[in-house]
Amino acid sequence: MDDKNTLKNLSLEQIRSVIEVMQQSSDAYMFILDLNADTYILSKKATKRFPFHTTVIEDCTETLKKVVHPSDYEMVAADLEKCRSGEKDAHALEYRWMDRMNRVVWISCRGTVVSGTENHRLLIGTVSELGKKAKADNVTGLRREAGFRLDMENLLKENPGSIHYMMRIGIDNFKEINEKEGIEAGDEVLRELAECILNTVGEHTKVYRLVADEFMVVDEGQAMRQDSRVVYRQLQRNIAAMAKRKEYSRFYTVSAGVLEGAFGDKTVEDIMRFTEFALNEAKRGGRNQMKPFVQADYDVYLEKLNIRKALRQDVNNDFRGFEVYYQPIVSVSDGFKLVGAEALLRWKNEKYQNVSPAVFIPILEESGLIIPVGKYVLWEAARTCKRWKQYITQFHINVNLSYVQLYKSDLMRDVEKCVQEVGLDPDSLVLELTESGYVETNERIKELFRDLKAKNIDLALDDFGTGYSNMRYLKEIDFATVKIDRSFVVQALQNESDFNIISHIIDMVHSLGSVVCMEGIEEKEELSKMMAAKPDMIQGYYFGKPSPADRFEKDFLGDAASTSVPKGLTDSL
Ligand code: C2E
Ligand code: MG
Ligand code: MG
Repeated sequence: MDDKNTLKNLSLEQIRSVIEVMQQSSDAYMFILDLNADTYILSKKATKRFPFHTTVIEDCTETLKKVVHPSDYEMVAADLEKCRSGEKDAHALEYRWMDRMNRVVWISCRGTVVSGTENHRLLIGTVSELGKKAKADNVTGLRREAGFRLDMENLLKENPGSIHYMMRIGIDNFKEINEKEGIEAGDEVLRELAECILNTVGEHTKVYRLVADEFMVVDEGQAMRQDSRVVYRQLQRNIAAMAKRKEYSRFYTVSAGVLEGAFGDKTVEDIMRFTEFALNEAKRGGRNQMKPFVQADYDVYLEKLNIRKALRQDVNNDFRGFEVYYQPIVSVSDGFKLVGAEALLRWKNEKYQNVSPAVFIPILEESGLIIPVGKYVLWEAARTCKRWKQYITQFHINVNLSYVQLYKSDLMRDVEKCVQEVGLDPDSLVLELTESGYVETNERIKELFRDLKAKNIDLALDDFGTGYSNMRYLKEIDFATVKIDRSFVVQALQNESDFNIISHIIDMVHSLGSVVCMEGIEEKEELSKMMAAKPDMIQGYYFGKPSPADRFEKDFLGDAASTSVPKGLTDSL
């Protein structure tokens, strides 16, 4: 027998030198495991990071018991035994080691069996840390998104029917913890929460850490299926109990989005998107709650994204598809007189013919597009008003403002620039603000209102009677007009006590020195009934629906310029 060419005949010193030389060119830890002699030789670098007492380990089995995570040891030992017995010629597993600080480190161990003489088998290979490849996470000891994707690709291919649910969990105020207490505190929270999730979901459920503060729980292949809501509630309780144990040194809650049902037709990408959507819904719904994924809601969300894209394109195309409509505002305190109009935005394009402002205005607000579009409306309305003042000198134009414009643009500058460029009397312009839109009236906003007043630009409080009817605003802010919303008017038409409330509100507004515009009068009977509450102005379908400028001009202006009763309003007398 010729042993000259086998590794066995190299001295330990020579083998160690070979390993150290190879190690210089790699991030991974080199090793040689003598499967028969139970001897393990590995690089010095590995001994610094993991609790190996030396580079040549003669009681490999015992040492590995200490280094390999207890839950993974059996699997690793079984695989090594197969390599030893000749059943396998390679070892390729991902599992957990414990580092010198007893923290979990995910590793990938890959080796090839090299046979020597007398069937002496050596496993030669490398151990690399998965955390470095973002497959596993050394903060929480969990596999990361790359690992999740790999596992799910296999599971979806092989046995999608075994998946019960996937739950994406996110910390509600993680950013705050990181910012206020530092990254280390953030890492500690992630570690604690990972442990808490693992304890809650039970041994067989898989848990992954995705991006930043998000975890994914995969309930798969279990005979005893647990209800996801029960699991989530238990998790909330366990987090609360942990906070108590730690004497409330830190407090946080988690939201969750859960995907259940058939997984056979889904891709990993679908799972990522759907669970992200459900988690965001839970956060939008007020946090500290779990929301299931609902396809119909997702479709609405996608449609909103498409609308947003179309809106953006049209804005960037010189406001293509946008148009300002005008609805008459009629003074009713001394006969019926057309005194102004409200500018109301309309939008359509090839694909979207009939989207209501109630749908597209919030999308413009969320995307910030309301700032350029708001300016477009302001200029359009101001130019139109200037033209119409030739017919009715007292004509004023009401323009709706979004709270986004108030808070995020230089409104005062835009308004001043607009009236100047167009040459419109500032007192012909009325800016409408929605009651619920600006909850906080901070100093900056109050200053803006004062500046507008100083420039003779009036404010109207829109949608009064919906949402939060906060009387404080009426006192705090100098509104020239209060517009009572149609929903409130409809209630007053049906119910005497509501009618009395509206009457009292109108008296109160008058006593504050402001006037009232009642919105949404559609029929003659409604008009006569509501006149008893003494509004100053009325805006409603009865006098006219919102219409394009040329139509408005034809219906209400033209010849009417010289008379006090505008054309089109004679019916109401
Ligand atoms: P708003 O400012 O309260 O405008 C009055 C709404 O009531 C208009 O709906 C108008 O068409 C409707 N209306 C008026 N009279 C009647 C009536 O007799 N019966 C019924 N059923 N409805 C009546 P529109 O045009 O759909 O606008 C909805 C909302 O969209 C507006 O409510 C306003 O909050 C917002 N909006 C419209 N244009 C703009 C804009 O240029 N900028 C901003 N920020 N918001 C706008
Ligand atoms: Mg309005
Ligand atoms: Mg209104």
